[in-house]
Amino acid sequence: MDLNPSEYTVAELKQKLAAADDPAKLDAVLAAEQAGKDRKTASEAIRRRIDELSDETAPAADDEEISYEVQTRTRDKKHVRALKGGEYRDMWVYCETQGGELLDVSTEMLGKARELMDEYNDEYESERVVGVLVGDADATTGLTDEVVARGADVAIYHEDDRLERFRHKPYTEIVADMARGGADPPNWETGNPGSDPTAEWRDYDKPRYFLFPATNNGRDLSAQVQAELDSGLASDCSGLFIEEELISNPVKTGEPGEKVEFERVLHMKRPDFSGFEYSTILCLDNPSREFHPQGCSVIPGSFEPIDPDYEREGEVVEHDLDLSDDWFRVDVTDFDRLDEGVDLTGHEVVVALGRGIGDDPTRGIELGLDLVDAFEDAALGLSRGVVTASYDVDGHVADYVAEERQIGETGQEVAPTLYVAAGISGAVQHKVGMDESDTIVAVNTDSDARIRDFSDYFVEGDLFEVLPRLTDSIEAGELTGKAEASDD
Ligand code: FAD
Repeated sequence: MDLNPSEYTVAELKQKLAAADDPAKLDAVLAAEQAGKDRKTASEAIRRRIDELSDETAPAADDEEISYEVQTRTRDKKHVRALKGGEYRDMWVYCETQGGELLDVSTEMLGKARELMDEYNDEYESERVVGVLVGDADATTGLTDEVVARGADVAIYHEDDRLERFRHKPYTEIVADMARGGADPPNWETGNPGSDPTAEWRDYDKPRYFLFPATNNGRDLSAQVQAELDSGLASDCSGLFIEEELISNPVKTGEPGEKVEFERVLHMKRPDFSGFEYSTILCLDNPSREFHPQGCSVIPGSFEPIDPDYEREGEVVEHDLDLSDDWFRVDVTDFDRLDEGVDLTGHEVVVALGRGIGDDPTRGIELGLDLVDAFEDAALGLSRGVVTASYDVDGHVADYVAEERQIGETGQEVAPTLYVAAGISGAVQHKVGMDESDTIVAVNTDSDARIRDFSDYFVEGDLFEVLPRLTDSIEAGELTGKAEASDD
């Protein structure tokens, strides 16, 4: 049906659509509508007709010959190439770099991927850890050996001087193309169903698993790449394991009332409700549509890196793709390092305040500062809870309620001799910024506060009473920089 929708009113168009019988051609009609008058109701009518035709022509779920048109449409998401019967292998790790070095989170993910795939390979057939590098020469060819030493079996890289800094569009296109193995993605406007992978070093359609760092750039990249690959993403994860899972949800099993075992499922654990609860996210196939890679972003500090082994052998693969000028439309003309503001690292003592100051934030900050002053070399830090609380504090302490003092995953990482955490619950995102401290003293009214689990000393009490007493003791020389043990 060659139909120019702009020539018709929506009502007329609906009549024409009723006679249409080819969903592929209706894709073109939809594109013409969107490029032309772009009427919401007209687009909806075209989509509805495409869905109706898809349902009419859908073969039974176990039919081997599923047409491209049917594969590419589901009720809730359209115009994507949903594989069925695809081949998936390996665990991929996007290795973010800065200044020609791997970020810590990259080595942590490689270590975890190595551990997971060693266990996986004991249980199933042998699959690899694939480390992904994108950037200029320093960030790619300069780091492939390091990526292998840190646990990868394959280091795949794309080097280009224009990629010196993270850029959303080219990085996304490159990483998605790597994962597709050079296959053309489908193009619904032209009806091109895509092609098979061409990469010679692998023989599968898409990675089985994909880990990204939960950094600013990693979050940006992970969401878009996983969408390009027609899968989902579990963001900000801090625990991973691979296991079978019995599933009863009929959307996933296709068999109401029956449980089906899904194999090799990556269980992606993430902290919710300020880290008080953990959710486990699974990315499972539907009966007629597969979701791979099973992907997540990983909170920095969640895993231990493995010791590098520079004798380890691995395959190094250069990725080849013409980078369109169009992907570089946004030009980086200048850049500067952000003013680092307050540096909390390197102090002997850090006094950190949390939302426990909420009853009287001004007084809470004053008490924290009094304690800071009692030490020779101390600084005031904050939990994110305080930074985001919008407390109405008096002017003389207002400057101290600033994001630059935040400690944790999205703030600074400190490891002082003494860390005093007053009114902080101990969410994992805070923990990763301070748990390398030599001695941790927590002051909290809640004896079950999570921070107790990783504190050396836990003072159960109200910070408004405990902090002044601590300050008095330090000033009186009764306590030194190292907290002294008490039996209570
Ligand atoms: P709460 O969790 O509300 O805890 C307050 C504590 O104070 C409680 O334990 C309570 O028992 C105690 N208390 C109450 N009154 C008193 C009193 N009078 N005396 C003593 N104790 C008292 N958080 C960070 O800190 N740093 C980060 O970098 C960070 N990054 C994040 C990144 C992401 C992507 C996300 C989702 C969250 C992040 N968070 C971060 C937020 C984190 O999850 C928590 O919400 C936050 O750490 C909670 O701050 P809090 O402990 O001060 O507040």
